[in-house]
Amino acid sequence: EAISPAELQPILDDIAHDMASATDRGEPAIYIPELGSVDPGQFGIALCLPGGETLQAGDATTPFSIQSISKVFTLAIALGRLGDSLWARVGREPSGLAFNSIVALEHNNGIPRNPFVNPGAIAVTDAILHGLQPRDVLAELLQFLRTAAEDDDIHIDKDVALSELAHAHRNIAMAEFMASHGNLQNPTALTIGTYCHQCAVDMTCVQLARAGRFLAGFANAPRLVSPSRVRRINALMLTCGHYDASGDFAYQVGLPGKSGVGGGILSIAPTRASIAVWSPGLNAQGNSKLGALAMERLAEATGWSVFG
Ligand code: GLU
Repeated sequence: EAISPAELQPILDDIAHDMASATDRGEPAIYIPELGSVDPGQFGIALCLPGGETLQAGDATTPFSIQSISKVFTLAIALGRLGDSLWARVGREPSGLAFNSIVALEHNNGIPRNPFVNPGAIAVTDAILHGLQPRDVLAELLQFLRTAAEDDDIHIDKDVALSELAHAHRNIAMAEFMASHGNLQNPTALTIGTYCHQCAVDMTCVQLARAGRFLAGFANAPRLVSPSRVRRINALMLTCGHYDASGDFAYQVGLPGKSGVGGGILSIAPTRASIAVWSPGLNAQGNSKLGALAMERLAEATGWSVFG
């Protein structure tokens, strides 16, 4: 039987209360200087239910940089536009490596392991940029997010985008390496510029949980992709959504999820809930430390693991 909103609210309140006082919070990402100055003392959680309710606790209406969570939405756009031909350019296997690892690219002839590691997401962005201008792609992404969340107040933080762009040496190197294998269709500067801006979208936990409803397969959510694609995006989130901690997230939480170095995690309990958590401090794998802990607590309290 489904857990009622009245039963869920105290669970969220408890989690937010404990996370607010946690002392071991991890460190915010500093390789993007603009993210390094975010107050690590914050924690928010929000979730949407199939009945249309949105519950929240903590700093759930504070905007944060979604960073790599954007990769889920650009993948949805790319699959909608290109269909399965996208898979000629990017694989579907967990990498077991850091988000910004270069080594796997050399082993795979410039084909990234999956769409959620940096080179994979760069390839996806490159694919949807083809024939368009960066501003068109970014407008399409914002429109997708606003439609998904049914909220027009979703924007790109220019300072974060430019801060990342000024330190994008590694992402540029990966794009150039892919180009050397014929796996880049646009000038590197255009693709990386677009990628850095897509990562710099600001959203709150409430907005992100609402934007994830289409992935939870709710009947009343905006229908943005077909049910079979929803299933597949969830499969990729489960296997590849947390970089080299993807196996651990599946083990501890048992739900598809995608993290970002801004400290956010979008997690999906298919047919049951779309969940967003945020805390800026990261663990060694670049995933939100308290966010992952909060998801463990929530999964345990609700029994929402896809593994029963
Ligand atoms: N914009 C970040 C980068 O490319 C995204 C990484 C992440 O969120 O995990 O380095």
